[in-house]
Amino acid sequence: MPLLPGTTIGMLGGGQLGRMFGYAAKRLGYNVITLDPTPTCPMAQVVDEQIVAAYDDVNAAKELAKRCQVISYEFENVAVKLVDTITATTPVYPGAKALAVSQHRWREKDLFKKCSIPVTPFYQVATETDLEQAEKTIGYPAVLKTCQFGYDGKGQYVINNTNEAKTAFTKLNKQELIWEKKVDFVKEISVICVRGQNGETVTYPVSENIHVNNILDITIVPARISKSSTQQAHDIAKMIAKELDIIGTFCVELFVLADGTVMANEIAPRPHNSGHYSIEACYCSQFENQLRAICGLPLGSPDLRYGTAVMINILGTGTGNTLSGVDQLMNNKNAYLHLYGKAEAKAARKMGHFTVIGDDIETLLQQAQEIRKNLKWV
Ligand code: AMP
Repeated sequence: MPLLPGTTIGMLGGGQLGRMFGYAAKRLGYNVITLDPTPTCPMAQVVDEQIVAAYDDVNAAKELAKRCQVISYEFENVAVKLVDTITATTPVYPGAKALAVSQHRWREKDLFKKCSIPVTPFYQVATETDLEQAEKTIGYPAVLKTCQFGYDGKGQYVINNTNEAKTAFTKLNKQELIWEKKVDFVKEISVICVRGQNGETVTYPVSENIHVNNILDITIVPARISKSSTQQAHDIAKMIAKELDIIGTFCVELFVLADGTVMANEIAPRPHNSGHYSIEACYCSQFENQLRAICGLPLGSPDLRYGTAVMINILGTGTGNTLSGVDQLMNNKNAYLHLYGKAEAKAARKMGHFTVIGDDIETLLQQAQEIRKNLKWV
């Protein structure tokens, strides 16, 4: 039996992804409770209730489980043990398996390999001997990364020789590491995929992602890649969904090589920044489909309602907490602004985003850059 509007959904985490999920769930008449340590976090501002507690507070999570019919999470560092514990009372989606794999870069890449999904050569490193072995086996240029808790390029170094490898190893010391061959990619892309309780799986149009300082800056949809690369990206996402038995929305980030080959890089077991365009550009957003999947409802269409979309992230700059230029943005009938309700616009903090939709990517890109020029934190 699907969980119908009126039932209560819990969310571990209450950031912007939870907030946008909250909008989708409230529109459809669900009750929503978030668990997050920050009072009035972005999600708490738009849903029914917040349990203010640390993410590893088992008792608080049990309380959430008691009060909800289903639970999801909006960030991947939730403890797998905690999810296992509360699953005894209430189902937690996308599930502990997806969480365990996506929390650990080596497990993730090992899964890609087992599924015959193209992946850069890699080697697990815990000791100096492993480091030497990795150098011999994989070589340079490479990226040395922590297996856990890295994000937005933190916890990783590009290395080109033994000296750099040793320095990076020292800096990242005492953690499990992965040595990855540096990929000479031409584009970074991602696919948002949703799998329902009956195994029905949908994939969104491929996102082309441009990063600045390792943080997503612009997403262009559909990605300007070949038909074959597009197909590979969709197939990879579907394979992972099945392999991890995912129920809900997740994202796979990929590299496109010069010959069109698509390589998997990492999985996020939740809606993703590169799928925000789906709110205005698709028939059913990544957030509504997250809700539909975890409630056992039919999935919505991921197809574009308009030809193309461009999304730009709005980051804090540390120069003020009020965004000026919003009025100019609103003079564009095809531009949609989202602000996440964070009080302080600290430098590099994701404060919001805007999406423009239309028929032609080049025109949209130009328009989006014009809009961005006027947005300033004062
Ligand atoms: P990640 O945390 O793995 O998503 O890495 C952050 C960014 O670093 C990616 O978006 C890429 O731009 C770059 N990167 C990560 N791993 C590699 C790799 N093996 N080869 C080349 N670039 C990489």
